Amino acid sequence: MKPNEGETMDWGRIKVLLLDSDGVLTDGGVYLPETGGPEIRRFDIKDGFGIARLLKDGFPIGVISRSPSTPVQTRCEKLGIPHIYLGAKDKVACAKKILDQLKLDWSDAAFMGDDVPDLPLLQKVAFPLTPLNGAEEIREATKWVSRFPGGGGAVREACDHIFRARQAKA
Ligand SMILES: [Mg+2]
Repeated sequence: MKPNEGETMDWGRIKVLLLDSDGVLTDGGVYLPETGGPEIRRFDIKDGFGIARLLKDGFPIGVISRSPSTPVQTRCEKLGIPHIYLGAKDKVACAKKILDQLKLDWSDAAFMGDDVPDLPLLQKVAFPLTPLNGAEEIREATKWVSRFPGGGGAVREACDHIFRARQAKA
């Protein structure tokens, strides 16, 4: 699928946005300091603004990642993300917990993932999304491909679509 082929998606129907971390909230790069110590990841400030603006508008967002990274936890907490599942072995089970908590269904949920471990959850939600540089088989499995890469505007673009749809309804 090419970017924006899914532009006709009904963003206003999405009631929760779930995000993978590596390759979605980050550019997928992991820096290993020669001196040892924790891995270093890069987040995008504009993505963060999109998330924070939606959260402020009362829209729920969750992060589900297999990585148990402490800096990722810190970044998500700083953004005020209420549902954070790191070190998640079963992303579908984590997503179900979030949906149950919010009394929502798979038909209400969007998930942005970028690689094969995200596939089971992408196949569950009604709105599967991926960044421009999502893995080829993920791009085939999603309804919408961002014009921007992971950690470089993909999350912001999705957040803005949801935000604008909410503004239009209000
Ligand atoms: Mg990933």
